[in-house]
Amino acid sequence: MAKPASSRCNLSCRYCFYLEKQRQPVMDDATLEQFIRQHIEAQPGEEVQFAWQGGEPTLCGLDFFRRAAALQRRYADGKRIHNAFQTNGVLLNEAWCQFFHDNGWLVGISLDGPADLHDACRVSRSGNATHHKVLRAIGMLRACRVEFNLLVVVNSHNGESPRRMYRYLRELGTAHIQFIPLMELDDQRRPDDLSVSAATWGRFLREVFDLWVREDIGRIFIQLFDSTLGVWSGYAPQMCSLSKTCGHAFALEANGDLYQCDHYVYPQHLLGNIHCETLGEMNLSARAVTFGEYKSTSLAPACRRCEMLRLCHGDCPKHRDESGKSALCAGYLDFFTHSAPYMKAMRDLIRLRRSPAELMAMLR
Ligand code: SF4
Ligand code: SF4
Repeated sequence: MAKPASSRCNLSCRYCFYLEKQRQPVMDDATLEQFIRQHIEAQPGEEVQFAWQGGEPTLCGLDFFRRAAALQRRYADGKRIHNAFQTNGVLLNEAWCQFFHDNGWLVGISLDGPADLHDACRVSRSGNATHHKVLRAIGMLRACRVEFNLLVVVNSHNGESPRRMYRYLRELGTAHIQFIPLMELDDQRRPDDLSVSAATWGRFLREVFDLWVREDIGRIFIQLFDSTLGVWSGYAPQMCSLSKTCGHAFALEANGDLYQCDHYVYPQHLLGNIHCETLGEMNLSARAVTFGEYKSTSLAPACRRCEMLRLCHGDCPKHRDESGKSALCAGYLDFFTHSAPYMKAMRDLIRLRRSPAELMAMLR
């Protein structure tokens, strides 16, 4: 994950963990070129995935990404390049959308629900509402036929309205939605006020699932539901938070510093700088391997005994409270238990080479 604008952002979301951080200059061209060349070289296969994130990456300007696309073409060496670009959408205009369309970039739009729920947290630096600007961006992406998905942060406020949230989001013109639980722990490892509680997270997932399983299988794709069905069907979880190990999800800052993960951009988790060592070397370093395995080696005894371990793997280490378990544990248990009979039914349909969408008719 590259953060070419580091923590710079044009919004002041109430829950943003970047707000107090030092602001660095945006990525310069020498770092951009090093990153693109090294990242392509480090991929063993024919497919290369770039993920651009922030802060807010549009603050680097469209020309920066035109140069990035040109560098990708120069260094591709026959490999297929894919790009995912996560943005709050506020600065998108037709030129950006045309660029995404022409280069086949996938855009992730951050949207936290209908206007009142979104604007309760996601405000401009002067404290103004932003929902209407995000909707305008979605309209332009649709008009330019850009593939996009929705990244939805579930917090203590919007998490209380699961049905309303889901019914709203599924009508916005994309079939792909990711729900991300907000979980920020204080120095005593207790969730802050905006973080979603385990009970609310569990109820949110259950109620959205109950709508989805009756109305939207095969039409709307929710990352957590897909991942859970995948595990029931014998595949590995899709999301790092539910995977056995952390898996080298590095975060690259604008100056070329590489951190273990976007959730661990702290000096003790700095792996190095791409102007001194290559991404390939840092990826293979003992520190990167140890960090990746920490998620599993540090599991709480209760997780090791848990019958849902293969679905959850103890959640993200950043979410673990003073008990050593995830502060969202009860919510995940609630969802995994509730969804299990439906997941098993979909798994069995797939094994019979039938569509999991048949479950909707069975439930009617
Ligand atoms: S620390 Fe959390 S967010 Fe980072 S790679 Fe591990 S599970 Fe994913
Ligand atoms: S559901 Fe709870 S106990 Fe089970 S693995 Fe996840 S965090 Fe651990």
